[in-house]
Amino acid sequence: MSWKNHQIMTKANPNQKAQIDDMTWPQVRDAAQQGRIIMIPMAAIEQHGYHLPVDMDNRACFHMCAQAARRRPDLLLNTPLLPYGFNEHNMEFPGTVSIRMQVFIDYLFDVAHSYTRMGFRRIMLVNGHGSNQMLANLVARRVVNETPALAMAIPYWTLSSKPFNESLRESVSPGGTAHACEYETSIYLALDPEAVDMSKAVKELAPRWSKWAWTDLTAGSSDVHFVDNYSRYNESGVEGDPTAASAEKGRKILAWSIENLIDLAKDFSEVEMRPRRSQQYDPEANQ
Ligand SMILES: [Zn+2]
Repeated sequence: MSWKNHQIMTKANPNQKAQIDDMTWPQVRDAAQQGRIIMIPMAAIEQHGYHLPVDMDNRACFHMCAQAARRRPDLLLNTPLLPYGFNEHNMEFPGTVSIRMQVFIDYLFDVAHSYTRMGFRRIMLVNGHGSNQMLANLVARRVVNETPALAMAIPYWTLSSKPFNESLRESVSPGGTAHACEYETSIYLALDPEAVDMSKAVKELAPRWSKWAWTDLTAGSSDVHFVDNYSRYNESGVEGDPTAASAEKGRKILAWSIENLIDLAKDFSEVEMRPRRSQQYDPEANQ
């Protein structure tokens, strides 16, 4: 299934296109003039255990962005997915591609910067892969530093964490959701169940290294940022409990994510952009 096929899942608004790659350049100029928010989905090709394809993060991230823009093309404009991410911790597993961190920062910045040069002034960097997040945060900062635009970086799982934990979660917390887990596997089961081999899904919880250091995708990770390579402590490539996953859970996660992405975009569209004002002492003034 190509990325664009996700679009057929909801009705098109005949007046406005949801994907920038479907537009002509005059249409792009009109979209910038309308003040639409640019969404840049980014994720990874990465191992996801014995049971999920390596495009897990790409599929989920692009789907949410494409559907949100499809629903609100007056507010949002989606752009092509950046399919490779920063992934050094999983390089001992086949099927994983890693972009060096500085290259990823520069590449993502150049993409965002290009949209600001078209006249877009609000950029959402929507991330589908954990290790990209710290770099995407820096890129959002850099966009604000070096261009006239505003930017934010969003880990997509934050859009549904709360309702997921409160009403769907069955795996142990923390540790049951992290990677190829109950949460991610549910999403893939909702998007394309035939691509998931649940007979090969194994439970391998995310480690709790210390009472100070743990990771969990939806319950929140510790502020102590401890990183290691998966292959030192992990057998299957799973961190969490995919055996608790279901397509029904995935459909709810996707619905919350799309709805809340639109909700966040509405707030973002209302953030006032005032000019910067220097309070610095100016030795050349009043001479
Ligand atoms: Zn993933």
